[in-house]
Amino acid sequence: KKQITRLPEWLKTPIPNDSNYKQIKKDLRGLNLHTVCEEAKCPNISDCWGGSNKSAATATIMLMGDTCTRGCRFCSVKTSKAPAPLDPHEPEHTAEALKRWGLGYVVLTSVDRDDLADGGARHFTETIMKIKQKKPDMLVEALTGDYAGDLEMVEMVARSGLDVYAHNMETVERLTPSVRDRRAHYHQSLKVLKAAKEAMPTLITKTSIMLGLGEQEDELWQILKDLRAVDVDVVTFGQYMRPTKRHMKVEEYVKPEIFEMWRQRALDLGFLYCASGPLVRSSYKAGESFIENVLK
Ligand code: SF4
Ligand code: SF4
Repeated sequence: KKQITRLPEWLKTPIPNDSNYKQIKKDLRGLNLHTVCEEAKCPNISDCWGGSNKSAATATIMLMGDTCTRGCRFCSVKTSKAPAPLDPHEPEHTAEALKRWGLGYVVLTSVDRDDLADGGARHFTETIMKIKQKKPDMLVEALTGDYAGDLEMVEMVARSGLDVYAHNMETVERLTPSVRDRRAHYHQSLKVLKAAKEAMPTLITKTSIMLGLGEQEDELWQILKDLRAVDVDVVTFGQYMRPTKRHMKVEEYVKPEIFEMWRQRALDLGFLYCASGPLVRSSYKAGESFIENVLK
């Protein structure tokens, strides 16, 4: 099979230079907050941090350390069976720093911590509650793991006062075992999304799917239907990009018009909104989308 080596035009991105982006970046200095946006050199940073309205700006923060107990084949995060213990001050520090930073929308995500009895759910919940105490108008999205299928943990996070509960399916059912860590399961992830919605029906639930892994059209239809069957509100599609040669290959660079077609199909199936494009990440312009589609 031919190796794909060159990136198509649509995956090349301009250097950010928006003035709001620069201001937000300046505000971040000295707050000791680590954003995934900067650390992963996300190509969307000027879209998410820029624009004219800081109250719609979105950033993603990683909680619970930089080392994951799982090893998904698409992910470049470091892996260990025994990552460093949690920092008990992290919920307070994160909330304080976010309040001072003053963004409109924050996505909190984390590595998976199968080494902890609660998977880190209490730590996550405490962080959300502290943010909402200190800055009640900040919109909070939690992008969590599956808590190894422990739905009580999912329910606890869902009832913490957050606005959006996200858990990523990543790919279609057939490819799940070869793409995600062996402890992740397609139906378990659907149950996580279902449990979050049932615990707090006013919550927006959300998931993300990567394209370019070899998924077929009928398989994508199936996952969208499975998601709607458990009342998932929002779906995003983005291109899988191989982080290093040790990670799984890209099977296809999916064309922008195909992303647009799936966006339209998702809306036709009843999803509230859908971000879909080659460079879209699950948190792409999440604040702006939420404000436009949920608050209005
Ligand atoms: Fe940050 Fe996510 Fe936006 Fe990238 S897509 S800049 S990680 S919020
Ligand atoms: Fe990466 Fe999340 Fe998988 Fe851990 S669980 S390896 S952070 S995708």
